[in-house]
Amino acid sequence: MATSTFSRRIVMMMALGVALPAMALAGLGIFLTLRIVQAVEAESRRYHRYMAQQVAEGFEQELMAHLRDASAPAENVVRTGGDRARVLAALESRGLEFGQAHVVDLAQLPDYFMLLVESQPLVYGAAQRGSRGERFVGVMLRDAEGDIVGAGGWWLESRVFLRDHLTDVVEDRLASNERIYGGLEALRHVAVVLVAPDQQEIGRVRNPGSSRTSSSARLEGPFAGFSVSTLPTPDAPVAWTRQFLMFEVGFIGLMGLVIAIALVFGLRFTVRQIELARIKSSFVSNVSHELKTPISLIRIAVETLEMQRVTSPEETKKFLRRIRREAIRLNQLVDNILDFARLEAGQRPFRFGAVDVAELVRETVDSFRIRIEDQGFAFAMELPPGLPAVRGDANAIAQCLLNLLDNAVKYSRTRREIRIVVATRPDGVAISVSDRGIGIDPRDQKRIFEKFVRLDSGLVHDVRGAGLGLSLVSQIVKAHGGRIEVNSVPGEGSTFTLVFPPDPGVAEPQGELQERTAS
Ligand code: ADP
Repeated sequence: MATSTFSRRIVMMMALGVALPAMALAGLGIFLTLRIVQAVEAESRRYHRYMAQQVAEGFEQELMAHLRDASAPAENVVRTGGDRARVLAALESRGLEFGQAHVVDLAQLPDYFMLLVESQPLVYGAAQRGSRGERFVGVMLRDAEGDIVGAGGWWLESRVFLRDHLTDVVEDRLASNERIYGGLEALRHVAVVLVAPDQQEIGRVRNPGSSRTSSSARLEGPFAGFSVSTLPTPDAPVAWTRQFLMFEVGFIGLMGLVIAIALVFGLRFTVRQIELARIKSSFVSNVSHELKTPISLIRIAVETLEMQRVTSPEETKKFLRRIRREAIRLNQLVDNILDFARLEAGQRPFRFGAVDVAELVRETVDSFRIRIEDQGFAFAMELPPGLPAVRGDANAIAQCLLNLLDNAVKYSRTRREIRIVVATRPDGVAISVSDRGIGIDPRDQKRIFEKFVRLDSGLVHDVRGAGLGLSLVSQIVKAHGGRIEVNSVPGEGSTFTLVFPPDPGVAEPQGELQERTAS
């Protein structure tokens, strides 16, 4: 199975197994909390509306209680006898009497209306002194026989009365309404604000917080024009449920982020491990295949010679050449594997010294020429005179060059051309190996230097290899303080360039060796 398909499946599995349930749970949590918040808000809204009406009515009750207390003693009564005469005259002129109704219709008695304080009719006089915002509040009393025995009253300044009685109304009169609607909202969570007709606040009980569920009610009767607003206090359930929801959304978001990051890292780690396991197993099979092929070729050639099936000296030469070629190849592969293991363990010793690049390149190419020729490659080499010596391990550098040449042969199709160019650069000496083979996709040009990596292109499948060569080359070059560059166009060919730093000079004459271990 291709690794990318496999990785995609893991991503899908993780998404289905972890991310989706986590998202569903978080979504459900937020949804349920939102529903709870909405329920609390609805209840709170109802409660505030109810409390606003209760407060509005409470003022009239308070007024009545006030009047009752004030008018109960006889001396409080009939303080302004003139009013009695006026009320009676007004009633009489309209053919009305007390006792006909507890509340006389205002339409019938403009300027006056009445309420009962227990059995006593109460008269509110419309504001003759309205300019001062006052109202006349009076009481009419009947005796046991039902005759009116007196009327009394006083001027009432609504604003002052309301302000002075606000706390009484809210805290005392409505204490019985402490909890309603399941008891979630309570009086202590309600702030009450009293507003005058000119919209000025004239008093408040507790400070309001959020106004999401506020409500207001207009006062009537003697307090017409005034209104009360009820709002939740900052510690009211309705205020903190919303905050709780915000906190929950924030917390879930944060946890989601943590899960997402963990998923991404976990996924990358898993995919990497799977990829490594796959690479390792394919490495074993690649290496065995690589070892087996030259061995069988050598065995067959030796057997053929042994059985003296070859008659002509030319043919014998051909078989011997084949044996030599495969032996060189086997040798290179074994070198690669051994060196790779040593480099991995940090135990590859380098014998550094001044290296004559021109000589090294010539010798390496000679040892490889048999493959170049046998496989029909056109070969060109540019070796300018007077190249400076580089500092390095000649065997290791030769091994790098052999690997690049081997790849150039392996990854060329019909255009069989190899070119080696050696040039001086400001930072050392550059050895380039170019081919006109399959080329490398720019996306893969970094990856190919990782151990065991072999690209998935069609040709690579048909070519023998263990994915060690370039990783080995790159490690050796690094140990030399040099670098490797790749320049490649898919379908056009590739150029690999090794740059080795120059030898520091005469202080260290050529041939003087110094041991160093790659790590
Ligand atoms: P191997 O050749 O054994 O597979 P290497 O480490 O030498 O391993 O190379 C890694 C991969 O880089 C190769 O499998 C191949 O896909 C790609 N590669 C290396 N050299 C060339 C080249 N000259 N042209 C095209 N592809 C190359």
